[in-house]
Order: sequence, then structure tokens, then C-alpha cells
Amino acid sequence: MTTQETIELFDKYVIANYGRLPRVIVRGNGCYLYDADGNEILDMFPGWAVSALGHCHPKVVDAIRKQVGELLHIDNTFYSEPQGQLARLLSERAFGGKCFFCNSGAEANEAALKLARLHTAQEKYKYITAEGSFHGRTFATVTATAQPKYHEGFLPLLPGFVYVPFNDIAALESAFSDEVAAVMVEPIQGEGGINVATPEYLQTIRRLCDEKGAVMILDEVQTGIGRTGKWFGYQHFDVEPDIITMAKALGGGVAIGAMMAKDEIAASLVPGKHASTFGGNCLACAAGVAVIEAIEEDNLLQNANELGEYAQDKLLALKQKHSIIDSVRGIGLMIGVQLTGPGSEIVDKCLDKGLRINCTHETVIRLMPPMIATKEQIDEAIDILDGVLAGS
Ligand SMILES: *Cc1c(COP(=O)(O)O)cnc(C)c1O
Repeated sequence: MTTQETIELFDKYVIANYGRLPRVIVRGNGCYLYDADGNEILDMFPGWAVSALGHCHPKVVDAIRKQVGELLHIDNTFYSEPQGQLARLLSERAFGGKCFFCNSGAEANEAALKLARLHTAQEKYKYITAEGSFHGRTFATVTATAQPKYHEGFLPLLPGFVYVPFNDIAALESAFSDEVAAVMVEPIQGEGGINVATPEYLQTIRRLCDEKGAVMILDEVQTGIGRTGKWFGYQHFDVEPDIITMAKALGGGVAIGAMMAKDEIAASLVPGKHASTFGGNCLACAAGVAVIEAIEEDNLLQNANELGEYAQDKLLALKQKHSIIDSVRGIGLMIGVQLTGPGSEIVDKCLDKGLRINCTHETVIRLMPPMIATKEQIDEAIDILDGVLAGS
């Protein structure tokens, strides 16, 4: 099929709820994508943070192939090996909690929000979330997402959500009450523009949750599974949450979500209270196991740390040359470049020159390089960005 033929299929048969670029991607390999017209693209925003091991990582592909020949799916009426193995690997790399599996980030957050209500006293029904957050598009998670643009057209939303400015300790303290079941924030806001929480902020959430008997939920859908150079974002902040949620990078490209809760909280999720038909299926969990093993075997946490620092230094050096760059922020391979003006045209021009990056909140360029990337690939990306900035 030509690019035009594929686009015509979409025009006729696919709901137009995404603004798509006029390219058809047909293949991915490591840090590179290939479109139907034969163009190669260096992908520094792989799969919207899903393909953190690059595209088609051989260890993940092998594990998927093996599992496909054994058992694709078995419902949760039974036990299955990959689900148990993945839960253990995740638990050992976080705070030793128990996992519930689902298929996406929004579903993981839904599970966390429901569990917080089940676990706390009946009169607790409120949730505190932070402005600029992104938690998903289902009704509860879009309500948790404290950005009016995502709420337009859907009022009234779910009751009980209270929004506070991110990183504002005083606002958090005054919003807290005995009716709060949970606080949910991202350790680093991703869609919100790579806004890093302060350790004091997360530690204050911890203290207030303890004092008031509320549950501390960290949305690690974007920060989780090694992207920041540690397994989970919270591990940079000297704090331990009650629940974390994850998805995106967890399946190496296969749809999977997970919620992990401390044992005593997890115990509230008894049969009949929550479920997911596809949740924890063999294929997705085998992929998840392979992702974690590959990160470990290939030393990718260390690479994420080193490469993140390298990329941030190089971007800071660009700031000396281009006044449109205001600042650079992030941890590991979750990097935001704050511009003084709009960034979407810059991102489009980069793609024309063979580099994929992202722009969020109009003025933040977001880079989420794969954890397998090399310094040479970072150099290649920054050279292209440099050229585009020089020409604009
Ligand atoms: C992407 C994202 C979600 C939503 O995940 P879906 O899989 O699209 O439902 C939730 N929280 C954060 C922090 C995200 O980045």
C-alpha cells in the first residue's frame, strides 16, 4: 500500500480523534523507524514512551515468539506462570508489594483509585491531584487529570476530586482533610512538561497521608521501568508510596498496565471488587518479564543515567547558541527543554530532517530517548535539533 492509500483507509474507516502526521510507519528497529516511503527516522520519543528498549528489542521479540507458541491468553480463573513471574520481578524492584494487572495506564490508575476507596473508611471519598497532571482518559482518570482542557465537554465529572498546584506544600496542607482517601501525583509530570517533584513535596504527601489515614498513590506510568535511571521515579526522592501504577514501557510495546500496592492495602482488593479480562495475560506478562531481564542484563539503568546526563549537558550547551532555549530539566532519559516560544513547528521541522521528538504544553520540547541509545545517537539527534533551531 502507498502512504496515500493507507491515509485514505483512515479517512474512511478510522475515527479521527488523533491529529496524525502524514506518514505511515512500517518498521522499527532499535532507535530507528522506517516509513512506507523508505525514510529513516531517529526516534527520540519512541511510542510515546512505550518503546523504552527501542523498537523490536531482540530479547523481547524472542520471549514473545516463545510465549505465542505456548499460550497466548488464559483468563484469571486459573494461575499462569508469566503473571506470577512478572509480579515477583516488579515487587522485588519496588517496595515489595503485590500486583494487579490490566492493559493500560488509565486502567492501572482506575484500579488504584478504587482500591484507595476500598481500603480507607467509608466517609473518605476525596482525592487530591495536582494541576498539570495527566492520569488518563477514562472518566475517573480524566477527572484526576487536573487540566481543564481535558475536561471540556465531559462535565459533570466524578465528584470528590480536589486540585492543588504541583509542588505547593502549603496548598496541599490546606486541601487535606479527614475525607481524603488518596493523593495521586506523578513523581515527574510527563505530559505536563517534565515537571520534577521536589523531595519535600513527596515527603509531605507521605506525612499527611500517614497522619490522616489516606493512601499515597504515585502514577509511574511514564516514569516507571527504568526511564529515569532507577526502576521507579519515586526511588530518587527518599520516599515510599503505598501504591504505584505503571504501563507504557512495561510490555516493551505490548499493551499492559499494572498497579502495585503494599500488602496490607492490597488485601482490601478481594474477589468481586475489581477485574480485567485481559489483565495479566500470558503474552503481555512474558513480554514484561523479558523487558525487565533485558534492562538488567544489558545494564540499561546505568545507560539511562549516563546518557541522560550526557543529553542534558549537550542541550544546555545548545542554550548558549539559541536564545529560544530557556532551560533544560528532567531526570535520566525523561528530558524537557523549556522554550521561550512555541515548539510544535520545531518538532515538525526535526521530523522532516529525520528526527522524532515531541512538544507538550506548547513550549516544552520533550525527549524520551530509548534506554538502548548510544552517545552517537544522542549527538545525531542534537545536531539535527541544533540545525533546525539555527534555521528558525
Ligand atoms: C500515558 C499516561 C497515562 C495514561 O496511560 P494510557 O495507557 O494511555 O491509559 C497515565 N499516566 C501517565 C503519567 C501517563 O504518562
